[in-house]
Amino acid sequence: MKIEAVDFFYLAMPEVTTEADGSQDALLVRVAAGGHIGWGECEASPLTSIAAFVCPMSHGVCRPVSASVLGQTLEEPEDIARIAAAVEYDSMDLLQAAHTFSGVEMALWDLLGKARGEPVWRLLGYAASHPKTPYASVLFGDTPQETLERARAARARGFSAGKFGWGPIGRGSAKDDADHFHAAREGLGPDGVLLVDVGQIFGEDVEAAAARLPDLEAAKALWLEEPFQASALEAYGALARRSGRVKLAGGEGAHNVHMARHLIDYGGVGFIQIDCGRIGGIGPAKKVADYAVGKGVTFVNHTFTSHLALSASLQPYAGLADHRICEFPAAPKPLAIEMTATHLEPDASGQVAAPDAPGLGIEIDPAAIRKYLVDVEITVQGKTLYETPPLDQPSHPTAPHGSAG
Ligand SMILES: [Mg+2]
Repeated sequence: MKIEAVDFFYLAMPEVTTEADGSQDALLVRVAAGGHIGWGECEASPLTSIAAFVCPMSHGVCRPVSASVLGQTLEEPEDIARIAAAVEYDSMDLLQAAHTFSGVEMALWDLLGKARGEPVWRLLGYAASHPKTPYASVLFGDTPQETLERARAARARGFSAGKFGWGPIGRGSAKDDADHFHAAREGLGPDGVLLVDVGQIFGEDVEAAAARLPDLEAAKALWLEEPFQASALEAYGALARRSGRVKLAGGEGAHNVHMARHLIDYGGVGFIQIDCGRIGGIGPAKKVADYAVGKGVTFVNHTFTSHLALSASLQPYAGLADHRICEFPAAPKPLAIEMTATHLEPDASGQVAAPDAPGLGIEIDPAAIRKYLVDVEITVQGKTLYETPPLDQPSHPTAPHGSAG
């Protein structure tokens, strides 16, 4: 098979706010090769990610992502790794390339799996897809009472684990934050798994983060996620040495395998959280999962968007029976739910698993794409580099729209 077309669909809610909710827009990727179609999703700014695929070459290692993808052979998993290596090298000065290629890479796995009639996790070498315990991923409320209600609602929906993130944490006093931690614990119940994500709010201020540790421990939080800027490894390492029973978690900001490995080796995280829509796709995430196993660190997916992204993010650790925790987007915006016709609902025992179906096992809903589609055209010197492709058929790469020609 040759990769014939790569089409991007920019979806957005009618109103996008400053809320730290990544499901307000989406960039869907459709790849066509050999009569098959694969779908992927970038977890990134849609417009800049499209631009990274079609932009004019600046120099030899600042080429658009399309230069390494279109026309390439796709027969084996090794072909995906080869294309990924070409993107990494030939687009090394194009910093959005990893985000853009993440969605393309997912779509390549989906397509290869469908062509072979195999789930992606089997193509990755796993013999089984083990069930995971999903945690409801929600934002802290504006008040402790709101946090309490959100925690109760998550529990009422059957989630035994809940992650509370962002919101007011770190913006007031340690005491203010403690009220939220204890409200979340109260709402989840004494046996619930409590996870806390503070969204890099402490920059690299180790003392400010450490001031929250006693209350996190008292509330029996399993992990403290992203206390610092994603590359503040000294701060991570310093806090990890003081964090006691509360382990550090991080990794969603990793744009490549090296960043994730450094967070394990120098940042001292106990949980490495990888978003396949950012790190370059499923292949690099699988490398991180293998590395984590060797280091005694637990791999966790990072997913705050659709069930297409959720399926993709489960694949890299589907076969790791002991790595059980799974981020489950519990309250995404409607577009993230509607864009797929199939969903990964928890089973009777509340567990989810990567589907035993060809590719990623998720169907796209074209009506939802139409409903949320943002029409885009990128023109340079009178030449149209990109315009929203037709939904009903892959664009032809030589045509002056959709894929970069
Ligand atoms: Mg997070």
